[in-house]
Amino acid sequence: MKEKRCMLLPGPVYTPERIRNAMSKQMVERRGEDIKQLSKELIRDLKKVFKTERDVLFFVASGTGGMELALVNTLSPGDKVLALSCGNFGDRFADIAVAMGLNVVVERFPSGKPVDIDCVRKILQKDEEKDIKAVLITHNETSTGVVNDLEAISQLTREHGALSLVDAVSSLGCVDIRTDEWGLDVVVSASQKGLMSAPGIAMVSISPKAWEAVEKSRYPKYYWDIRRFKKFNEEKSLTPYTPAMTAMYGLKEALNMVLEEGYENVLERHRLITKALRAGLEAIGLELLVDEAYASPSVTAVKFPETIDSTAWRKALRNKYWVSTAGGLGDLIDTTFRIGHMGYIGREDIITGLSGIELSLREYGFPVEIGTGVAAAQKVFAE
Ligand code: PLP
Repeated sequence: MKEKRCMLLPGPVYTPERIRNAMSKQMVERRGEDIKQLSKELIRDLKKVFKTERDVLFFVASGTGGMELALVNTLSPGDKVLALSCGNFGDRFADIAVAMGLNVVVERFPSGKPVDIDCVRKILQKDEEKDIKAVLITHNETSTGVVNDLEAISQLTREHGALSLVDAVSSLGCVDIRTDEWGLDVVVSASQKGLMSAPGIAMVSISPKAWEAVEKSRYPKYYWDIRRFKKFNEEKSLTPYTPAMTAMYGLKEALNMVLEEGYENVLERHRLITKALRAGLEAIGLELLVDEAYASPSVTAVKFPETIDSTAWRKALRNKYWVSTAGGLGDLIDTTFRIGHMGYIGREDIITGLSGIELSLREYGFPVEIGTGVAAAQKVFAE
């Protein structure tokens, strides 16, 4: 396979050379000074992208592990939770809660639409007994490319008194999330998406209100008990168990890159890329799943032309034009494909990606005038 592919994937994402080089370092003494220093710097920089002054901790896990960790630490068996889902990953958060024996009320919104704020308001207002202990919400629904209005949902959750537990796996590092300003209680993310590193680290921010809930939680747990992680971090700048050193090196270098560019500039770059990509896809004649008003700056789902075999077409796009995209997920598996644009993503990726999409669609009989999508994206960049 060619080394330089155009990776338009929704995670794991393209890992730039600087990060790959950083990850080639030797392992070090697990309780030594080097790792202490690295942990300290990692947490300091992670707080900048979480936009929080509160606790941030990290674990050896993927994002799903972080989601389970949020539930197992702040709740007790049988607690009632409201799971707001508008796609595959919202469904997953609800499934984890069900598997853990929580009393889960799932509010499912149509795939491609965001969580309806009025609906959330009504449900929370109706809960006069305050039975709902937590609201589970996906910030950026990667299966559909929808960004939910986290600020509004968090405000309603706070007025009610429940905890907000947020899946920010595909938003941290590429979609603005203001943990403190929006009053989010637990925010979970992972190393392999917006932060361009190897998979292996889940990171979590925890509010003071969430820490109160942690003290009351009656779930049995050992590795997942975040109190031990907090204690080790505060007393020794270490994790209680062996950390994923390689992913830590990568994550630190990714944060260096993000902070050198300026985090606000990174977010703006993602917004610009999204605008250009959407313009290009529409000019080609493809239908986008999601309206601009709540379109994700990190992933775009595209409706598949009914006449084309999506799996064969995506394979051809990858093999002939070296443009990798992702298939649909959940109930959209046969009708959409997804373009990831998170992390180390630039204008050249969008131009190359659109060009490959145009050429390969044409080869599959889709009536596209070569150059229209690329030109539409270029116009956005030129503005
Ligand atoms: N939540 C969201 C929004 C995701 O996009 C993903 C992965 O794609 C996950 C959760 C699961 O993360 P992981 O595969 O790291 O467990």
